[in-house]
Amino acid sequence: MKFISTRDTDTPVTLREAVMKGLASDGGLFMPREIPVLPKNWWNNLSGMDDHSIAAGLLQPYLQDSFTQQEIFDICRESLTFPTPLRQLDEHTWLLELFHGPTLAFKDVGARFLANVMERLLAEKNEKITILTATSGDTGSAVAQAFYGSDFVDVVVLYPSGKISRVQEQQIATLGKNIAALEVRGNFDDCQRMVKEAFNNREIRQQLQLTSANSINIMRLLPQMIYYALAVRDLSRSANTPVFSVPSGNFGNLTAGLIAHRMGMPAEYFIAACNANHVFPDFLETGSYTPHPSLATLSNAMDVGDPSNFERMRFLFGDEVSSFRDNLRSRSYNDEHILRAITEVYQKYQYIADPHTAVGWLAWQDFRTASEPSPGIILSTAHPAKFGDTVIQAIGQEPEIPERLARNLDQDKLSVTIDSQSEALFDYLRQK
Ligand SMILES: *Cc1c(COP(=O)(O)O)cnc(C)c1O
Repeated sequence: MKFISTRDTDTPVTLREAVMKGLASDGGLFMPREIPVLPKNWWNNLSGMDDHSIAAGLLQPYLQDSFTQQEIFDICRESLTFPTPLRQLDEHTWLLELFHGPTLAFKDVGARFLANVMERLLAEKNEKITILTATSGDTGSAVAQAFYGSDFVDVVVLYPSGKISRVQEQQIATLGKNIAALEVRGNFDDCQRMVKEAFNNREIRQQLQLTSANSINIMRLLPQMIYYALAVRDLSRSANTPVFSVPSGNFGNLTAGLIAHRMGMPAEYFIAACNANHVFPDFLETGSYTPHPSLATLSNAMDVGDPSNFERMRFLFGDEVSSFRDNLRSRSYNDEHILRAITEVYQKYQYIADPHTAVGWLAWQDFRTASEPSPGIILSTAHPAKFGDTVIQAIGQEPEIPERLARNLDQDKLSVTIDSQSEALFDYLRQK
């Protein structure tokens, strides 16, 4: 299986090149050249398969040129080390809890697969690389945890001092070993600018073999298909085809669901559940795509005004908005809606939803129909303890903090504080 850029279908590259580069040279995003449909039989037999066999079955077509069947299975076993349980809320509603990984958000799944694939590709050639990345919270912690202890990859994470939550900072800054945390005296935009300038500096880039490993990497995206299929398996009691409601920001999670659907996974349609950043619902309604600067909301991991994966969705559906509409619904919700939803879910079901999951729940409430009910599966993307302040505001009580998170909060911070000038970052990198 080769991979192509969304902007140039005539220049296929190998998995290795797509994974190491992240972004194609022409600025496009990598996609598999073909999306094979798995046999009906395979989908009908999900209930007889464990998590790792389902994962391996879905990823096999994309990995089989680079790895043996045994290696693919090992990658799945080493990456998917936690469950993704389906919890029933009412007769037709389920939550797919994706937050049982090390950093309590769904990004752990993609980050861990990327780490295990990269590690093997580098080990084959005994190469070493440095991942340099700026984070506003969740991505940096998932990447740092996933690559922790790697022999071939060093990670340098820049984060804005005082602008990420304490939980997020502890998850990035207490690791040590091959994970360097740089606390920047500035904001997230400063961090991003500094990273960009380091990539543009030839001396630095060559000395350290820099790569980015950000969320547009195809090896972070494809593994996100797995939990959709696991949910379909676990739902098998119900005869009807499910609707998936996906809290969306950069649309990676949703795009993975759409690719799984292309591979034959049953789905009635998908809901892109958005916060006040409304570029996608506007597009579905009007047919024109008009990006806007991102708005800060309570579901901050979805604060994206120009989602990168829109380009992949356009690659899948073409330029006709009607083919988007055949497969997707979308709606936008503001902070007030989010707070009210957390309150309502708690009162109705004694369940504490985080502010991202709350958006998914709101959208499912709006699109579900009473007459011919499909089961609705809401992707629950983060643990509520990650957003304790918002939860307290909504229900007047703090969510229980999982033990691994509590342990993390006690550990010493190991970050190095630097100024927001690029030279400060270059000096640090040169000494490494
Ligand atoms: C990243 C993130 C999202 C958005 O996912 P996309 O793939 O960018 O659409 C939603 N919820 C949480 C908790 C996240 O961390």
